[in-house]
Amino acid sequence: MSFDFDLFVIGGGSGGVRAARVAAEAGARVGLAEESRMGGTCVIRGCVPKKLMVFASSYPAAVAEARAYGWSARLGGFDWLAFRAKLHGELDRLEGIYRGNLLKAGVAIYDARAVLEDAHRVRLDSGESVSAKHILVATGARPFVPEFPGHELALTSNDMFDLEALPKRLLVVGGGYIACEFAGIMNGLGVEVTQFYRGAQILRGFDDEARGHVAEAMRARGIDIHCGTEVLAMERDGAGVRVACTGGNDRSFDAVLYATGRVPNSAGLGLEALGVGLGRNGEVKVDAYSQTAVPSIYAVGDVTDRINLTPVAIREGHAFADTVFNGRPTTADHELVASAVFTQPELGSVGLTEEQAREREPIEVYSAAFRPMQSLFAGQNEKVMMKLIVAQASRKVLGCHIVAPAAGEMIQLAAIAIKMGATKEDFDRTVAVHPTMAEELVTLRSPVRKA
Ligand code: NDP
Repeated sequence: MSFDFDLFVIGGGSGGVRAARVAAEAGARVGLAEESRMGGTCVIRGCVPKKLMVFASSYPAAVAEARAYGWSARLGGFDWLAFRAKLHGELDRLEGIYRGNLLKAGVAIYDARAVLEDAHRVRLDSGESVSAKHILVATGARPFVPEFPGHELALTSNDMFDLEALPKRLLVVGGGYIACEFAGIMNGLGVEVTQFYRGAQILRGFDDEARGHVAEAMRARGIDIHCGTEVLAMERDGAGVRVACTGGNDRSFDAVLYATGRVPNSAGLGLEALGVGLGRNGEVKVDAYSQTAVPSIYAVGDVTDRINLTPVAIREGHAFADTVFNGRPTTADHELVASAVFTQPELGSVGLTEEQAREREPIEVYSAAFRPMQSLFAGQNEKVMMKLIVAQASRKVLGCHIVAPAAGEMIQLAAIAIKMGATKEDFDRTVAVHPTMAEELVTLRSPVRKA
C-alpha cells in the first residue's frame, strides 16, 4: 500500500519538530501539521518567553544590589509595552528558525488543525486529507482551570505574554512550577503579588526542605503566599476581580492568574474511536517506545503526560524517529531527569527527594544553608541551600537539590555526575572551585541526619 507520507506529525512543538526532522534526515517523507504557531508551548507560550520575563524582572534587585556595591544606580520605570513588543519579535524570530529548519530537512508543513480519520489517514481543517504509514501525535497540553463561579475571569499562563498592561495587584492561584515562576516574575516587575495555594506548602513533589527554603525567600522578596487557601468564587469588580476564598479574606485584584496544572491536548483528535487508549486525564497511553495501542500511531511529549518538560519531549521524539526510521529501537530515558523552577532564587533538582529516598533505603542527608558572598556583602539575608541525599549502602548520591541564583545552571552539571552514578566520595575528592556557591557541593563534610 502506498502512502502520501512515511510519517505525519500532528503538532509543531518540541517533540513533534524533533521527530519530524530526524525522520526526514533519515530519508523519510514527512508531513507536519500545526494549528497554531511553530515551536509549540516552549517557544511561543512557555519556557522561552517565561525565561525572558524572568530576566526582565531581575533588574530591580540587581540595581538595589549595585547601590550596595557603591554604584549610584537608580531604577527608572519599566516599559511593559516596549518589552512585550521586543519579546514577540524574538518569538517571531525563533518561530521562523523552527519553520526554516523543518523546511530545510524537507518536511512538508501544513498550517492547519489535523484530526485522525483512520490508523493511516489524517484530515486537515483546510479540507485536505493525507495518508501516512506512521502518525505521531505531539499535540502537547494546555492550561487547566477548574470550574467554579466566575472561573471565566481567570487568566492562564498563555495570557501573561500578551497583557495590555501590568496589573497593580495580581492573585496567582496554584503552587506548582508555573504559579511560583509567575509570582516571582510579576513581583520583580513591581506588581503586588498574592499567591493562594490549597495545600500546606508550595511546590509539592519537590524536596520538603527546598520547598520551605523557596517559600521563605519568595515571602522575603514580597510575595504574599497564603497556603491552605482556595478560591470559592470570582466576580467582576469594576475593571478588576473580586475573589471570595476560604478563610474569609475576600479581596479584589486587578487580575487573577490560574496556574493549576495542564491537561493533555487529546480531545477531538479521533483517537478513542480508533482504539488509542487515553488515561484519566486524557493522556495518550503509550509503551516505552511511545507506541499507542494502534501500531501505526505513536505519541510523544506532554500529550502523553510522562515527564512534562521540553527536553524530555525532544528525547521522546528523537527516540521515536530512531526506532521507526533509523532502525535503532530506542526508548527515551526518564530516569534522573533534572529540572529547574525559575523562581527567584531558582530551585534546581535531580533525583530523589529526601522524603522519597527515605522510603526506599537507609540514607544520609547532607545539607547546608548559607548567605552567599555577593548578596551578603550587599547586606541581604537571603540564604542559598545545597543538599545531597546519599545511599548509606552504595554511597551513591541519589538526589541533589539546590536553591540559589543560577541553580538551574548548577543542577545541569551536578546531574551529569549523578547520572554517572557518582558516590559521595566522588563528590568529596573533587577539588572545590573557590569562591563559588557550588563549591559547597564538594565540601559537605558530615551528614545533618541519617534516616
Ligand atoms: P503543576 O502540576 O506543577 O502545579 C499545579 C498546581 O495547581 C499545584 O500546586 C496544584 O496543587 C494546583 N492545583 C491543581 N488543581 C487545582 C485546583 N482544582 N484548585 C486549586 N489548585 C489546584 O502544574 P503547572 O501548571 O505549574 O505546570 C505544568 C507542568 O509544566 C509542570 O508540572 C512541569 O512539568 C511543566 N513546567 C516546567 C517548568 C520548568 O521546567 N521550569 C516551568 C513550567 C511548567 P496540588 O499540589 O495540591 O496538587
